Amino acid sequence: MNTISPKPVIALVGRANVGKSTLFNRLTRTRAALVADFSGLTRDRHYGEGRMGNRPYLVVDTGGFEPVAKQGILKEMAKQTLQAIAEADVVIFLVDARAGLNAHDEEIARLLRRGAQHVVLAVNKAEGMRHEASIAEFHALGLGEPRAISASHGDGVSDLIDHALSHLDAPEPDEPGEGDEDLFSDDGPSDIDLAQEEDGAQDEAAEPEPVKHRIKLAVVGRPNVGKSTLINTLLGEERLVAFDMPGTTRDAIEVEFERKGKSYTLIDTAGLRRRGKVFEAIEKFSVIKTLQAIEASNVVLLMLDAQQDISDQDAHIAGFVLETGRALVVALNKWDGLDSERKEFVQREFERKLRFLSFAKLHTISALNGAGVDAVLRSVNAAHAAAFAKLSTPKLTRELIAAVEQQPPPRKGIFRPKMRYAHQGGQNPPRIVIHGNALDAIPDSYRRYLETRFRTAFKLDGTPLRVEFKSSR
Ligand code: GDP
Ligand code: GDP
Repeated sequence: MNTISPKPVIALVGRANVGKSTLFNRLTRTRAALVADFSGLTRDRHYGEGRMGNRPYLVVDTGGFEPVAKQGILKEMAKQTLQAIAEADVVIFLVDARAGLNAHDEEIARLLRRGAQHVVLAVNKAEGMRHEASIAEFHALGLGEPRAISASHGDGVSDLIDHALSHLDAPEPDEPGEGDEDLFSDDGPSDIDLAQEEDGAQDEAAEPEPVKHRIKLAVVGRPNVGKSTLINTLLGEERLVAFDMPGTTRDAIEVEFERKGKSYTLIDTAGLRRRGKVFEAIEKFSVIKTLQAIEASNVVLLMLDAQQDISDQDAHIAGFVLETGRALVVALNKWDGLDSERKEFVQREFERKLRFLSFAKLHTISALNGAGVDAVLRSVNAAHAAAFAKLSTPKLTRELIAAVEQQPPPRKGIFRPKMRYAHQGGQNPPRIVIHGNALDAIPDSYRRYLETRFRTAFKLDGTPLRVEFKSSR
């Protein structure tokens, strides 16, 4: 059976103000614009995807991870941060060329020498400085040759990522050539990368086989929401086709099962192990495994605990699902034994805090006694079908024309945007590309109106939908 190979994870580590979020944004910027569309989504992004040539990776900004403790940099590196450092394939440790070496840097360096697999030391804010001068004092950290970069200008960032990824054993699908050199630089050919992204060519390259029948399902949620319980409820009743447990830690664990004539591959997030007939989680919760599982899936089942309030961590996981564009079903678990007041409260909280998930179906379930579990799987099937729906150009264009007739786009100055036709630009999530003239003038509110029209007309519930404009001149 195929093993889904998770994308490598790069963790950004460093004290406050060294430039972690600036570097994060530069490494993941092709995605940032897509996420911005979801109203109500928390803006502080901590996880993202990037790409070096053909090589995808995940980036985690550990700086935004956990509430900051009262004192001491080590206390600040809360549990999830330490875990992320240990689990990341490479850590990029950022220091500040202008501020110079700092006692906190030394403390972090000590921690990294003990707990990280690979560390690359990046000396940020080095634009306009002499190379030797900028890096000299950081040799003392004992983490190898420091690399001067400028996160805000992009200098040295391509080389840095190239070097970071060279630590990984997996073969590179494409040799980093001269063309990649300045991928991240403001002066470099970064728009080439963006253009490829727009054509959807990269997505196809990353996942060549058309996903038709087998549903790759990731069950995610914070610790103790009931993921293992649900998985056991699902698998306990069903014929288990295969259980794959590769030896290396970097491989995701998959369980294949069938139910009511549908085939599923369950992608584990929790370090699932089999004990007799029962699966149990060994490592309780891992942000990085969660990200990798979402990445490797087509459909995500996000579990929430109805006995607990909805937390920032729930919102962050949900935000990452949106960013990747995976189809989504939400299960509000532990519904058994709740009084009606609590039930009402939790549903209101969900609508308030996670309203950007309104495209997804919400189920109230009990993983423990199985109530609602069949309905969840039906929604998973429907979300999968929606994510891979085939939308023909004539049908899309007919719907576009009907939508415009009912409500034309607003004029901007003397221009009235003219939309001519629509075609499908991708799947999982479906991308609908609208062609015409003066489409830059179309406001976001109108784009959302079209999104709703397409969603309703083609019954695209359970999947994010991306409506994009392409002006011809
Ligand atoms: P974080 O706290 O580590 O996430 O740091 P930020 O990314 O928020 O950056 C802190 C400050 O440093 C901001 O004012 C940035 O604009 C600035 N900064 C980040 N990268 C660079 C750089 O390469 N050069 C210069 N001169 N400033 C930078
Ligand atoms: P995980 O960390 O997300 O895998 O959560 P577990 O499956 O280990 O569940 C955490 C705890 O919640 C365990 O004590 C479960 O028995 C309990 N639990 C899970 N699902 C339910 C449910 O539907 N109802 C109730 N009442 N408890 C549940």
